[in-house]
This record gives sequence, C-alpha cells and structure tokens, in this order.
Amino acid sequence: MPLVPNILKDPQLGLPKKERAAILKHAANRWFSKPSNIVLYVCITVFWCGLMLAAGPLADSLGIHKALSTALIWGVLYPLMFIFSYWVIFNYNFLPFLYKELRTRQHDVCPRCGYILFTLPESNQQCPECGTQREPLPDPKPEPDSKQQSVTQASDSTT
Ligand SMILES: [Zn+2]
Repeated sequence: MPLVPNILKDPQLGLPKKERAAILKHAANRWFSKPSNIVLYVCITVFWCGLMLAAGPLADSLGIHKALSTALIWGVLYPLMFIFSYWVIFNYNFLPFLYKELRTRQHDVCPRCGYILFTLPESNQQCPECGTQREPLPDPKPEPDSKQQSVTQASDSTT
C-alpha cells in the first residue's frame, strides 16, 4: 500500500491536500488510541533503537571508519526508522480508522471497505462492495483547529 491511501486521492471525494493531511493525522491519532497498536509501535521503536545501538559496534568490527558509520547511522538508519514506522502504521489495520475519520467528516464511505456511498441513492441500504449495512453518518465532531482559531480571535479582540 502507498504511504497515502488511494481513497484520499479519489476525485469523487475531491479532498484538498490540506484536508488529506489533516485526515491522515487524525486517523493516525485514532490508530494510536488502540492499546495493541501502541504496543506494536513501541516494539518497532525498541527494535530500531537496538539496531542503531548494534550498528556502531558492528561497523567497528567490519573495520568501517567511525565517522562513516556515524554518518550512516544518523543519516540513513535514523530517517529510515521514521519511514518504516509510518509505513507500518499505514499498513497495519489503518484503513478502518481512516474510514471512521472520513465518516466523522461527513464523507459517506463504507466503514468496512471504504466504498464511496454518497453517490448511491438513499434507498440503497447496503454497501454494493462488501454488503455492510449502511448507517447514518456520525455527528460531526467540532474541528479542533477552528476552535483554537476562535480562541485566538477572541483574545485578539480583547487586546
Ligand atoms: Zn463496503
């Protein structure tokens, strides 16, 4: 799966780039709210830290120059750690959280397979792709960014 799930680029949803990033961020937050996912993430981090700690002595034993091995560890392994972590998040059971986030933002997609449902007539009560019963969209949650904005606006007006 690509780093940005295909559904976010779907022209039917027509999501601007900024909103796609926000959706990904919030879906990742949802992903992290599940304890087993936190455990997985901690395991990955521990694995990479171990790898980075072991890489130095390994490079020494191979006779690689200290400066070069340090550059490789911090210049290659360290960024790879983040890319790998994100890749794992987006590939491990991430889509249900993404669909949930989309639904909270009033994009009617199937919570199970992500099929775009809002183009279908209301009478169509099942997802044509996976057969999941169609449910009404959840109440829109207040956008934390806009709330913050109104707070700063309010403080601006008092000064
Ligand atoms: Zn479906």
